[in-house]
Amino acid sequence: CIANQTRFLELNAVITPLQSQAGWLQRVRDADARRENGTQKSALDGRIIAIKDNICTRSLPTTCASAMLEKFSSPFDATVISALEESGAIIGSKTNLDEFGMGSHSTNSRFGEVKSSFCGNSGEPLSAGGSSGGSAVAVATGQCYAALGTDTGGSVRLPAAYTGTVGFKPSYGRVSRWGVVAYANSLDTVGIIGQKTSVVREVFGVLNHHDPRDPTSLPTNSRSRISALLSQSQFSNRLASRPLRIGVPLEYNLTELTPSLRKAWLSALKALEKQGHSLHPVSLSSTRHALPAYYILAPAEASSNLAKYDGIRYGTRAAGPDSGEGLNGYLYAKTRGEGFGAEVKRRILLGSFSLSADAMDNYFIQAQRIRRLVQSDFDKVFAFNNPLRTGASGDKDGVSRVDVVIGPTTSSTPPSLSSIQNDSDAMASLNAYVTDVLTVPASLAGLPAISVPVSTTKTDTNPGVDKVGIQIIGQYGDDDLVLDVGEALE
Ligand code: GLN
Repeated sequence: CIANQTRFLELNAVITPLQSQAGWLQRVRDADARRENGTQKSALDGRIIAIKDNICTRSLPTTCASAMLEKFSSPFDATVISALEESGAIIGSKTNLDEFGMGSHSTNSRFGEVKSSFCGNSGEPLSAGGSSGGSAVAVATGQCYAALGTDTGGSVRLPAAYTGTVGFKPSYGRVSRWGVVAYANSLDTVGIIGQKTSVVREVFGVLNHHDPRDPTSLPTNSRSRISALLSQSQFSNRLASRPLRIGVPLEYNLTELTPSLRKAWLSALKALEKQGHSLHPVSLSSTRHALPAYYILAPAEASSNLAKYDGIRYGTRAAGPDSGEGLNGYLYAKTRGEGFGAEVKRRILLGSFSLSADAMDNYFIQAQRIRRLVQSDFDKVFAFNNPLRTGASGDKDGVSRVDVVIGPTTSSTPPSLSSIQNDSDAMASLNAYVTDVLTVPASLAGLPAISVPVSTTKTDTNPGVDKVGIQIIGQYGDDDLVLDVGEALE
């Protein structure tokens, strides 16, 4: 695939281009001047960072790829945007996504689907993954230095895996969500996509701070406590100073795993073993329940978060009178009927159902229980105790713990866009949900996780794809180690 201007437009990674922003060129020139006279603000000074279009920016519209917000321009910048600007970075294009972050292929967009820069065997367009597919493609094609995405159940890691880029989801609460349009608050994180882990680390360095405006932002004293725990001799500078213990989660070895992914997983593990680290099978037994639990919890939170788009408080108001003639005559129903796409409506229905009095106990409450089991599975395998939970280490049952766990990010290489469209509506949704099976466990547990590209043999379904995503998951707060291991695999 050729990366040129026409090609960029064809890929449809961008909703609003950088060039629509007043003064952007001057900012680039100012940064150039600072670089020349040695007064650079930071490593990011003058770097263009593309932004997923569900993160509020004053200088460019924020549409969430929805007709509902097609005309919305935020009166303020999200905290992550102000932090980037203070570091001298230039806010780049606003990138395409699945509407409100709901999807796995960046096909549920008011502005049309994103195409990957990878092509299939006969040149057919492949899925860029979702929902931050536009950010991943912008990075993969060199349209920006790095990009911000959001990761609720895998939306940064999955597109990174499908496009041969690095996608990092920090521990929940590390990066401010203030000004990030909520999908499912208890799971939403801002993630970073780059071509290299070192770039992702630079951006993370700028964003990793407490924000008093976000009540779920990790407070400064907790950050200091975690740093102190991590500086104890057995945890500090682990990758450089001693062999790591690497967990191989047995439940991630799905029967459906594409052979090229299994090969890449093995080759990543072997490469780390060669560097002197040791491999240990671990069991995360609740993994198979994580996906259904996620698809109860995320839509439940979404149904509540999206209630405000009624055409009065928020959202593009449907035309015509609030006549009350038949259900669709009411302004609220008309606005929401026209403003939301099919997948968003499906999630609102699912969420409203699972939160309804009769269904609550069987769905929402059970899913929360599973979430706790998934968290405690991880707590049992990590040597570093979860700093947010007292007694989280479980019993010390003589089982030796690991520093990180490593598995594939996805179970298959990217499907072609046409195969996704050929599915009936309900099947397409279900297949997209299944795509998240290996990313949602870390989301439910709030853990840091990175997807890094690992070369693979071009022997199965999509010979156009030469890299697949391998995922490294660490204990809560152990973000730096996750980045270190990502770098060690490059
Ligand atoms: N594909 C998942 C979903 O649709 C994850 C999305 C995300 O992380 N924003 O919910």
